[in-house]
Amino acid sequence: MRRPMIAGNWKMYKDVNEAAALVADLKRVVFDIDNVDIVVIPPFTDLSDVGEMLIESNIALGAQNCFWEREGAFTGEISAKMLKSVRCVYVTIGHSERRKYFGETDETVNRRIKAVLDNGLVPIVCVGETLEERENARTIEVVRTQVSGALKGLSEEYIEPMVIAYEPVWAIGTGRTATPGQAQEVHAMIRGLLKEMYSSSLSEGKRILYGGSVKPENIEDLMKEEDIDGGLIGGASLKADSFAALAQTTSDVYS
Ligand code: PEP
Repeated sequence: MRRPMIAGNWKMYKDVNEAAALVADLKRVVFDIDNVDIVVIPPFTDLSDVGEMLIESNIALGAQNCFWEREGAFTGEISAKMLKSVRCVYVTIGHSERRKYFGETDETVNRRIKAVLDNGLVPIVCVGETLEERENARTIEVVRTQVSGALKGLSEEYIEPMVIAYEPVWAIGTGRTATPGQAQEVHAMIRGLLKEMYSSSLSEGKRILYGGSVKPENIEDLMKEEDIDGGLIGGASLKADSFAALAQTTSDVYS
């Protein structure tokens, strides 16, 4: 069975004091969950402090993005090596907000994945269709293109640790979640594509998270779907009690 993951993307919320308060609360409420990988993904400015607070906890640290170069004259950018130095383990790559507002493409996603893996970190690669694409019956085509573009030229051994997150753009921050059936259909398609591109064992072992308005009220049915291995959570990760409820329900489904 694949080990589930619940990852909280804090987006551009929580200054360093707010982050410390949230993490202190979170540690108290999730400390006894041992069958779920729990990850918090704060803004860059919080990473160092949060990383220290998470030492010897059951919560891992992730970053929201990174640049592909190791170092250099790239004002405003952060490298994977820098993220590793503040105890990051995961990095989300290609979130739809990066694609929409900051010009992220499948090609730049591919370059960032390489930088993350080369530094021994784990990319959480985000894919998903817009509402218009879904309404025009293009979901499968769009997500297939994103996954194959992201993984272009990358070998099976190399991408072994990678996590994929299917996040329909129309469900992110909108309160409108995909039905378990809609999500499962795309997850199964992604798993099938990984089998085509690599092998059954890679495809069967790969964790594919769902993201898009996941809340304590709707997570159980999503997690019961065969190809959904956890959640990438935005809004509901900003409060300790709702994030803990998501991790606990996932833990119960997998017990
Ligand atoms: C996200 O930011 O990846 C996300 C899924 O947000 P929300 O849970 O708020 O829809």
